[in-house]
Amino acid sequence: MRAGVYRGAFDIRVEEVADAVVEAPTDALVRVVRASVCGSDLWFYRGIRKEWESGWRTGHEITGLVEEVGDEVDTVRPGDLVVVSFAYGCGRCELCRGGLPTSCPQGAFFGGPRGGGQAELVRVPFADTSCWVVPADTPEERYDAVHLLSDVLLTGYHAAVLAGLDRADATPATAVVVGDGAVGLSGVLSARLLGAETVVLCGRHDDRLEIGRQFGATHTTALRGEALHEHVRQLTDGGAPAVLECVGTTDALADAAAVCRDGGRIGMVGVPVGVDGVPIFDMFRRNLTLAVGIAPTSIYVEKIGPLVAAGDIDPSPLADATFALDELPAAFEAMHDRSVIKAMVAMDGR
Ligand SMILES: [Zn+2]
Ligand SMILES: [Zn+2]
Repeated sequence: MRAGVYRGAFDIRVEEVADAVVEAPTDALVRVVRASVCGSDLWFYRGIRKEWESGWRTGHEITGLVEEVGDEVDTVRPGDLVVVSFAYGCGRCELCRGGLPTSCPQGAFFGGPRGGGQAELVRVPFADTSCWVVPADTPEERYDAVHLLSDVLLTGYHAAVLAGLDRADATPATAVVVGDGAVGLSGVLSARLLGAETVVLCGRHDDRLEIGRQFGATHTTALRGEALHEHVRQLTDGGAPAVLECVGTTDALADAAAVCRDGGRIGMVGVPVGVDGVPIFDMFRRNLTLAVGIAPTSIYVEKIGPLVAAGDIDPSPLADATFALDELPAAFEAMHDRSVIKAMVAMDGR
């Protein structure tokens, strides 16, 4: 089969590798229909994550058709279209049952030393919990939208949850979203879904801010620094009780703290590779709560997946460019230079 392989910084290749196969009785073998390049893939692409080794596989965002399942798989059948969670857990241990599959001792992420999703086939461990079966009547034009459940949409949702918007006393709430990438825009959709009435999106690209307004942002701004902080504090009557930090840099976290109301919560989901300082004294003085973490997508997808499959939520404007598998290097380049929001990889060329 062909698969994306990391050969060094700025060097992604599509190579012929051994076919993925079912190895454990809890595995599924999935023929990939949609994959995509993630903002977090750029950390190894740019050579910032030094642990990455030549030969490691790329891709953790996967939608595909189940070809084969192991003997102990119950809920997934050959022929099912499934969205795969970017991180998998056993589904049975205390951590998995407590909502933390990303901390499962038997869990892992796709890509790296394991099989990746930017490939024709992928072995999916613990298929019963890591695969969400797309309803059979979902029209094909919604495949891009459902594929976004594999990571970004639900990572944005996690930011909204971490920021406290799912709490009963949070509605009607005011939320600020820092970052206009795919995750930040997903955060806008999620904040609205969770009942936020005022959503301020802080970004840098006019076309992305426009999508933010389509997704329900009531205000958007491309201001920076102190001008941004003043503007947002004015819009939110002194700061928002819920702030979604969807970038993962020192500056973005500082912006999030500056626009958070005293006593408020910051939900941070940007992979914090670029964060070398937390404004801890300011947060201490103002009783801010900072909640950080990786989205438990296999849990959220049960609730959000049906809404996307039915077309009640449509994140598909994020999928603004589609590449064939052989064009994977160009897909990484497009994500790196920010000329696209989300580079999709369609295996069958559709
Ligand atoms: Zn991702
Ligand atoms: Zn587990």
